[in-house]
Amino acid sequence: MNVLPELPEITIIAKQMSKEIRGKRIADIESLQPKNLNIPFVEFLGKSKGKIVANVSSKGKWLFIKLEPAYYMLINLGMGAEILYFNPDQKLPEKYQFKLTFSDKTSFTIHFWWFGYIHLVLENALNKHKMTAQLGISPIDAKFTLQCFNELLANKKVGIKNFLLNQKNIAGIGNVYVQDILFKSRLHPNRKISTLSKKEIGNLYNAIIDVLNHSISLGGLAYERDFYGQRGRLTINKFLVGYKTGKPCPECNTPIKKIRTGGTHSYICPKCQLLR
Ligand SMILES: [Zn+2]
Repeated sequence: MNVLPELPEITIIAKQMSKEIRGKRIADIESLQPKNLNIPFVEFLGKSKGKIVANVSSKGKWLFIKLEPAYYMLINLGMGAEILYFNPDQKLPEKYQFKLTFSDKTSFTIHFWWFGYIHLVLENALNKHKMTAQLGISPIDAKFTLQCFNELLANKKVGIKNFLLNQKNIAGIGNVYVQDILFKSRLHPNRKISTLSKKEIGNLYNAIIDVLNHSISLGGLAYERDFYGQRGRLTINKFLVGYKTGKPCPECNTPIKKIRTGGTHSYICPKCQLLR
């Protein structure tokens, strides 16, 4: 199963990182794949060393490590990665591309499955960092209200699934969680936004929040590891329709179908999610 981390997994890691590394001073950095960095390694190290972690947050598939004074270290987990925390007496993993050690000798390593980004950006230039500046609102942000969702949908011409996956609209939903979000709202992935009723939009809004928070409460996907190396408890059998081709729909028992929708696959109940 090819799954990538989405909002729940990244939210969990950000929270754990914030708890463990907040207040720590950066002592050293090792980069085995300098092309992950946005500036030459010597400069990256020079500017990071001695800085103190103020907090860690996340948006979309990015982690934001706020450094005092004046910088952000931005880490993109786009294609999947393991970020693991270590005490000085613990054994490091065999493979990693990046290692950051703090003055108290604790550290974390990053192993990207394919490729990832680690960017160092001045705090006052953060809005010029294109890859993060274009991200839409986080659906677990308190500002993501039903009214906000309605405003985002207004005058949009695309299908609802394409809208939800576009990180410039809403940041953090990918092809894993979108499946159950659409099923819960009884919407076909190709439904045009202009045809959605007020009630359907309300159901969709609730489904987004429910599905993501449900996963967070289970520690995220069982196929991903958190900052401590622990796997989440959300396995495929807990999905409603996602990745369950041929299994009965939990609502009406019709076998779930896997269909192609644009560039992605969708898992739907052909009876509950009609294309009207
Ligand atoms: Zn059904």
